[in-house]
Amino acid sequence: MSESILEDIFVKRSQQKKKTSPLNYKERLFILTQNKISYYDYDPEKGKKKGLKGTVDVEKIKCVANVLPEVNAPAERQYPFQIIYDEGPLYVFAKTEEVRKQWLHKLKHVVRFNKDLIQKYHPCFWVDGTWLCCQQEVKQALGCRVLEVQNGAFSNKGSRRKSRKPLPPTPEEEASRPPQPPPRQAEAAPGMTAIAEYDYTPVTDQDLALHKGEEYTILEMVDTNWWRASDRNGMEGYIPSNYVVMAGNGLETFDWYCKNMSRSQAENLLRTENKDGGFLVRESSKAGKYTVSLFTKGGGDAAGSCRHYNICLTPQGQFYLAEKHNFSSIPELITYHQHNAAGMVSRLKYTVSNQDRNAPSTAGLGYGVWEIDPRHLTFIRELGNGQFGVVKYGKWQGQHDVAIKMIKEGSMSEDDFIEEAKVMMKLRHENLVQLYGVCTKQRPIYIVTEFLSNGCLLNYLREEVANPPPILLLEMCKDVSEGMAYLESQQYLHRDLAARNCLVDGNGSVKVTDFGLSRYVLDDEYTSSAGSKFPVRWSPPEVLLYCRFSSKSDIWAFGVLMWEVYTLGRMPYERLNNTDIVNKVSSGLRLYRPQLAKEAIYSIMLDCWHDKPEERPTFQDLAVTIQDLLYELQ
Ligand code: ADP
Ligand code: MG
Repeated sequence: MSESILEDIFVKRSQQKKKTSPLNYKERLFILTQNKISYYDYDPEKGKKKGLKGTVDVEKIKCVANVLPEVNAPAERQYPFQIIYDEGPLYVFAKTEEVRKQWLHKLKHVVRFNKDLIQKYHPCFWVDGTWLCCQQEVKQALGCRVLEVQNGAFSNKGSRRKSRKPLPPTPEEEASRPPQPPPRQAEAAPGMTAIAEYDYTPVTDQDLALHKGEEYTILEMVDTNWWRASDRNGMEGYIPSNYVVMAGNGLETFDWYCKNMSRSQAENLLRTENKDGGFLVRESSKAGKYTVSLFTKGGGDAAGSCRHYNICLTPQGQFYLAEKHNFSSIPELITYHQHNAAGMVSRLKYTVSNQDRNAPSTAGLGYGVWEIDPRHLTFIRELGNGQFGVVKYGKWQGQHDVAIKMIKEGSMSEDDFIEEAKVMMKLRHENLVQLYGVCTKQRPIYIVTEFLSNGCLLNYLREEVANPPPILLLEMCKDVSEGMAYLESQQYLHRDLAARNCLVDGNGSVKVTDFGLSRYVLDDEYTSSAGSKFPVRWSPPEVLLYCRFSSKSDIWAFGVLMWEVYTLGRMPYERLNNTDIVNKVSSGLRLYRPQLAKEAIYSIMLDCWHDKPEERPTFQDLAVTIQDLLYELQ
């Protein structure tokens, strides 16, 4: 049985599977594990767990959300929440707001990759055949309220886990289809309206231009990364799906809304703008909440400082900031505070936004394009030298930043790689360096990828990071764990995860690169575990001894990468040579605790270095654990 994540005693409402069945409320012991919620009969006298009363499979959960308490609810039913799965909502009542928050937070994490997540819910109870909120009389009726924070968008910014039990593919599918990243927004469907979050300039004549803030109709979701859409004038074409959001909480159209921005990124941006009263609104690290980040030069601090205010919710669903000036929507609240400080250090004077500067990368340059014409590339400067030769920074079609790996002849098994590149192109996640395409018609061949202006993480740690606040290092680890959790959900192994194979963008976000590439290296020193270039220091005993690669060897490497982060780029086992490492690590030696790593952080590393691979966590577990620690730090 898998380990319990949370255990609490809740009042559970009977599920009223028939319209007329009477409602009852019973105390049950609820246990949440990675795969299941189980509830048990409970003996309050002895404090003992009794018979199992029911379970819900985590992967069947479609939504978790608060419920507004009944009018005149008794004291034990003040903090209800709902777990919606295929049998309808399960209503439970926590004893305190804290416990309810904690459960919602954990639940949102464990379900965030589920494939059937819904973004609308009923904020009130289903009672005697009616939804109290909208008076609809069909239990399955689509929710009447959009979730404040999209389900699943909580920390992974939109990617979804494939069902753990996918339908088996047909033989043709198996032969022809590369693994597809699951859809970004579960609720998106043809016929629906989407709003552009970024401008997009067409790169092929099949593409459609996007203008930030405008509405588009989705026509066909040909591919998870590229959708056919039409604009207001009836023009049709392909758009990158990650440039639009489904008309949802509506905040996406506001310049001040920076959805996926972390606290330290917000501080960076506000400091760079350096304007008194500069502000933005971002998703808080607490599920379902938003934070206003505000920069002020008042208060005697000439260099300026950042304040973060949580947007709070009254029990009636009204929003407020520092003092109780309540509003029915976040935009109304912001408008009010643009004119009134009302309890904050300053009013919100200037909108600070990074949306224009940092449109996300698309999967490929234009729909269906993976072969890039080398005449469209301009080389600007050399970035470095790697296993396959020189890497250059350049522009594609004179305007898009790209990094170009020029593959030294004889260094790569090219045909195999070119086949694989088609699969790699489909992998898309904010924390993976995007492969844009390849130039294979000439020699040397080129690999064209997203360009990250702060270069490789290892050098960044060594040269740019001094006296880091604890949150910064943990956010780096979180970024990597999220990118890797996505690869894991696609059953894709990295095989060479290390700080040297991560890059840092202009905002300080970390992205994983070179995934799967080691399979195409032609160099025995690199590929043989006895070779001098083999990543021995990042490898677990079962790889060193038996060449057994698995997702669990990537986990081991992640532990070492965390150690690199927390030592600001030291060489692991710096005093040992490769032979010593093989011997000592297989007999139990582990890296020491870096000074900057608290016990809780070091214990994550140690979990990754369990000698039994099956005892190591998954990346999804790691992403959750790290998010929880971040939550505590903020
Ligand atoms: P390889 O993996 O082929 O051995 P690297 O990926 O390590 O080569 O590239 C060599 C150097 O080039 C890196 O250390 C990094 O500084 C720089 N570099 C590589 N890719 C990028 C990129 N996409 N954006 C910015 N810099 C990059
Ligand atoms: Mg590399």
